[in-house]
Amino acid sequence: MTEVSSAPWTEGAALEVRGLRRTYGSHVAVSNLDLTVRTGDVYGFLGPNGAGKTTAMRCMLGLIRRDEGSVRFFGQDESVAARQHIGAIIEIPAFHNWTSAYRNLRWACAYAGIPMSEQKAEIARVLERVGLTDRQGGKVKTYSLGMKQRLGIARALLGKPKLLLLDEPTNGLDPKGMKEIRELIQSLAQDDDITIFISSHLLSEVQAMANRVGIIQRGVLRLEGSISELTQTERLTIRVHSSSPEQLAEGLKKIPEISFTLDEDGTALVEPGAVEPAHLNRELVTGGVPISAFIPQAATLEDIFMEATR
Ligand code: ATP
Repeated sequence: MTEVSSAPWTEGAALEVRGLRRTYGSHVAVSNLDLTVRTGDVYGFLGPNGAGKTTAMRCMLGLIRRDEGSVRFFGQDESVAARQHIGAIIEIPAFHNWTSAYRNLRWACAYAGIPMSEQKAEIARVLERVGLTDRQGGKVKTYSLGMKQRLGIARALLGKPKLLLLDEPTNGLDPKGMKEIRELIQSLAQDDDITIFISSHLLSEVQAMANRVGIIQRGVLRLEGSISELTQTERLTIRVHSSSPEQLAEGLKKIPEISFTLDEDGTALVEPGAVEPAHLNRELVTGGVPISAFIPQAATLEDIFMEATR
């Protein structure tokens, strides 16, 4: 494995990935991926189906080999000690379906090296946390998909991890199940101080949960940053309305740095580029264009996603 460090390591990060590359034969599934998940983040790893999210997460967790790249957890390399702070669900969690949730967690405790004397209390804690205490004796095959996901999260919480990696945790769930998982994840972040890394192809889901986002497409990270910063700075549009569409078109054409579309009722959508909105407004007004609305609009996450993956 090559040590690649395309960007410097970050102080206080929960998870850092540098220069990650993974190929399947001649197909490059993940290419030169750099990610920084800060402690306390709910980080949305957003990308369309087949973008490389699961492959990247498997590589980060050491579940599959990577061709190049380095991964650090809480400032440490991927030693066993660093891994003890991590819980994960990759794709749909698998269980022994013919037996109970409790028994499944008992095996998971043994696998995770949790001492026998602590297992009962730890299982009670995680079942309570995901709201499955009452159903712990039921066979897993009788569980709904949403309950299986919650049981998967319970298993990932064994040993009190500081970082959870969840691969599309709401995939296949109905709206109620999605909401339950969303609320659980938000509560784990806020109340239990767990840093969350969650992959999703659903914009709405990432928007509802995450404070930071990395957008991946065809194995390449297109953009990374805090959602509030990105939506404020990435792409501002201005909606301008005039009772005289002709004058508005003339006025806008005089400002060469901008681009715009104009509909018949006199509403223009302007991409100002480097032009300050106040300057644009002044130019139109001093040019005699009657302006009845001038509304700067911050980009939505959807705008940013469309732009990044265009
Ligand atoms: P999804 O949301 O659909 O799971 P993803 O973003 O997680 O997508 P991956 O599953 O990582 O994407 O797949 C990335 C690319 O690598 C895809 O083109 C996929 O077909 C390919 N790929 C994944 N696993 C394998 C494999 N075992 N062998 C060959 N190609 C693979």
